[in-house]
Amino acid sequence: MKKTNMTDINHHLTDPLLMAYSAGTLPEAFSLVAATHISLCDECRARLGSFDAVGGEVMMDAGSVAVSDECLAATLKRINQGAPAPRPAPRKSVLPSPLLDYVGGDLGDVKWRKIGGGVSQMILSTSKDATVRLLRIPAGTAVPDHGHRGTELTLVLQGAFRDATDRFGVGDVEVANEDLNHKPVAEAGADCICLAATDAPLRFNAFLPRVAQKFMRI
Ligand code: ZN
Ligand code: ZN
Repeated sequence: MKKTNMTDINHHLTDPLLMAYSAGTLPEAFSLVAATHISLCDECRARLGSFDAVGGEVMMDAGSVAVSDECLAATLKRINQGAPAPRPAPRKSVLPSPLLDYVGGDLGDVKWRKIGGGVSQMILSTSKDATVRLLRIPAGTAVPDHGHRGTELTLVLQGAFRDATDRFGVGDVEVANEDLNHKPVAEAGADCICLAATDAPLRFNAFLPRVAQKFMRI
């Protein structure tokens, strides 16, 4: 996996996503994608810092009414635990550090399972309100054409993919919702490895994937 050059990142987390991450209200699966992007992206880390500061001030105002210092400190501690701001650590691993515990190791430890069309996945264990998986799409291969019933966050970790909206390279995150139908195609070169979170089943525009998707939890 190529070392990420921060200036190459063109697609970022939206403000509502960063705010929800800061407040600790995202499903764990989305939180993991956000934390992983933030660990790669100076711009989003800076924006998160300003949202964290605003959240802190709101708490301080509440504190001036009737909340004891002790209670306030405990609350702030809880908030900080809910949405830790990942720091850029020197990269010793191939996978960004927020992923290591979820995978149970580095890229070589990923337990890939084939899901058809050459595509493999590993579903990571999180709370059930949303699902997050690593996806490996062989270079030049397309993910079947699909729409979305909820939100899909896709973060590129290796290689790149294109769809009708744009090109997504290492560090880029695509935020897809009900309005988008797409057929992501991995570029030639390295296999495309993504971290993808969804909070509702995808809507495949072909019969076969619909039959298979129950088993794949896509
Ligand atoms: Zn960013
Ligand atoms: Zn999609």
